[in-house]
Amino acid sequence: KQPMPLADLDASKLEIHLAATLKDLPEPSSLLFGETKTDHMLVVEHEPLAGWGKPQIVPYKPLELDPASHCLHYSSNLFEGMKAYLCPDGVPLLFRPDMNATRMTLSAERLALPPFNPDALMALIKALVSVEKRWIPQLPGYSLYIRPCLIGTRPAMGVVPSNHATLFIIVSPTGPFFKHDGAGVKPVSLYASFDHVRSWPGGTGAFKLGGNYAPTFMPAYRAAQEGYQQILWLLEDVDPKETDAIEANGAVDVEKKSSEMRITEAGQMNFFAVIVREDGDLDLVTPPLDGTVLPGVTRDSCLELARFHNLPTDDPLYTCLPGIPATRKVYPCERNITIEELARLHDKGRVLEIFGAGTAAVICPIGRVGYRHKDILFPEYPGGYGPLSKALVETLEGIFVGKVKSTWSVR
Ligand code: PMP
Repeated sequence: KQPMPLADLDASKLEIHLAATLKDLPEPSSLLFGETKTDHMLVVEHEPLAGWGKPQIVPYKPLELDPASHCLHYSSNLFEGMKAYLCPDGVPLLFRPDMNATRMTLSAERLALPPFNPDALMALIKALVSVEKRWIPQLPGYSLYIRPCLIGTRPAMGVVPSNHATLFIIVSPTGPFFKHDGAGVKPVSLYASFDHVRSWPGGTGAFKLGGNYAPTFMPAYRAAQEGYQQILWLLEDVDPKETDAIEANGAVDVEKKSSEMRITEAGQMNFFAVIVREDGDLDLVTPPLDGTVLPGVTRDSCLELARFHNLPTDDPLYTCLPGIPATRKVYPCERNITIEELARLHDKGRVLEIFGAGTAAVICPIGRVGYRHKDILFPEYPGGYGPLSKALVETLEGIFVGKVKSTWSVR
């Protein structure tokens, strides 16, 4: 007898059980990131023989887990992070939610957790955001942070993949990353980490797994004690040809020890540098997606906006980034850059700005990098953003709230 095919995730099976009483809305200015719980959450279970069950929107409550649950022992946890903003007409807008949904399916695959249809996930996200719409403050820079998660819930300690899983989505109202107090954005300081790496070739750096974050808190805590806000993650930049030669010799090459360290990410953000080329145009440099870097939605969006800057196109969005002269070309440039090369370019005055890019801050200027017991100070600008990051952030924030029309917006 053929086994029954497992049920895929199906948004049409959604059941909505609303809370009998709703919570009071908090004062927007009192919101701290991720602290406020709304009235509802979405939950759906995967069982080994049946597949995905009925998705349910239910009142927000703790999850019940067997103490032997896979995720509590073997870190089968993954998540996404995205935001819903309100359009001027009061409709919530998602920004490129397909990219988050697809990235989540890839994370699930990497942990051998049950697969699911990303379109169904998107439909479920939309349903929960619609139910929780009243939580989005009608104020500039405020949004609903959306956190879809998938955990392995196999209730036994065997070291095998988890064929039981729970997918849940929680949301939390959130204010602007940088307080709009008129003082502008304050560039952050980063500590370039030589002792601890976040990711490595063949590792899991390109996936949004809980297990990638747990080991970062101790280095981040140490960096904070030294007066730095986040870590600049580095990785030894070994030329594959060089490694082949070392293996052929069977000897440890002394040269290799002194090789340069390439930048992978900035804290929980993708790293960007704006470098002035010999011809006066700009290179927007970011490390390539080689498996050691999270494929950020904001990263991709910055590259796309730069790619279309001043290109002949019918799309008014792409004709010119505000504030960047049409005569100046911006070249999106996915390439490795070492901390040593960044320091050399900085000494020549060619680093115009460096910044991190991610959903939380959108763009976060970096003012100072602690590197081998000394600080590199990068150019600072009135208001905090350099010229290119200002153009990118203005365009992106316009798209988030529907002021700038874009195919990236999903109502
Ligand atoms: N890198 C890491 C390690 C992150 O956690 C994030 C936040 N998701 C990013 C980069 C930025 O990704 P995104 O633009 O999709 O938020």
